[in-house]
Amino acid sequence: MSNTDTTESQRKGSHGSHGPIGRHAIEAFALLGHKTRLEILLAIWKAHDLRADDNAVAFSQIRKRVEHDDPGNLRYHLEQLDGQFVRQQADRGGYELRVPAQQLIQTVIAGAGVHDEYLEPTDIDQQCPFCGAQTVMSYREGILFWACHECGGMTPGQDFASFDPPGPLTAHPFDPAGLDEWTPDELRAASTVVGRRRLRSAFDGVCPNCSSPVDSWFDWCPDHNSDGCDDCGLRFGTTAHFRCRTCDHHDGSTPKHLALFHPAVVSFYDNHGISTRVRADDFEHARRIYSLMLSHQVTVVEDDPIRVTVTASQDDEMIRLTFDETVRVVDVCR
Ligand SMILES: [Zn+2]
Ligand SMILES: [Zn+2]
Ligand SMILES: [Zn+2]
Repeated sequence: MSNTDTTESQRKGSHGSHGPIGRHAIEAFALLGHKTRLEILLAIWKAHDLRADDNAVAFSQIRKRVEHDDPGNLRYHLEQLDGQFVRQQADRGGYELRVPAQQLIQTVIAGAGVHDEYLEPTDIDQQCPFCGAQTVMSYREGILFWACHECGGMTPGQDFASFDPPGPLTAHPFDPAGLDEWTPDELRAASTVVGRRRLRSAFDGVCPNCSSPVDSWFDWCPDHNSDGCDDCGLRFGTTAHFRCRTCDHHDGSTPKHLALFHPAVVSFYDNHGISTRVRADDFEHARRIYSLMLSHQVTVVEDDPIRVTVTASQDDEMIRLTFDETVRVVDVCR
């Protein structure tokens, strides 16, 4: 199996878990490690009006919302937040949330790590592309899974029964707040939208979690067997990898999928009357685009350094992208 020369230390850069970013994170969480402080942030956020010119919330108002019986102590906690999370508007006599605090509150509302949501495996109207069986959506620990319980999904060469869920087809981080808002079919389409957004960001070189640079490379399996490979265990023998240098976020994708991000491919399909856009409320179309993506042909044309082509065809016409060893498109051929 070929790999790049990206070492662990290169991937982590100079900001490993003990570097300056780790220290800043520890300091920020220490600052918030008190129930009253989170209550203060929520109280200011609740008073926030997106359309208002003045969002400064007076101390008396904060005190009313937090219901703290010691105003001196409440003021102490508020002062601890002043600067990093809260800004005092002296001229307007109140406090405002700074952008990092707004993002933090949005994370709390999205429910990540707060609600322990769970979705039992639920049938959706999409057959497994590999064995034709009914597929299911399920959710646990913040991940939305689409899976086939009859075959190995994307990992046919591994003991798929030991996976939870067995036969994973896709797995995407998904905030629990969105879980009840969609039907199971729509969840499948919504997870496609979320997965594409995150993959697109990594493919464009920015970590979707922490906005740091991303390293990318190909792994490929020279003697691959797509029905159950003893060497790699995966459905597809060529995988593009993306790893964040700071937070270690990792995403892997078949290059079939990456081709859909290239403007020449988007325009190729558009010329054939097909929009590659996926919307969460259009499950039918999301299903169609998934089939289209799977129909792309992947070939390793050179192995040192690796060159990978992806070919899409419609009505006797074709387009071919060539990726280099850093997963950048270096050639487009029509
Ligand atoms: Zn299957
Ligand atoms: Zn293999
Ligand atoms: Zn990151």
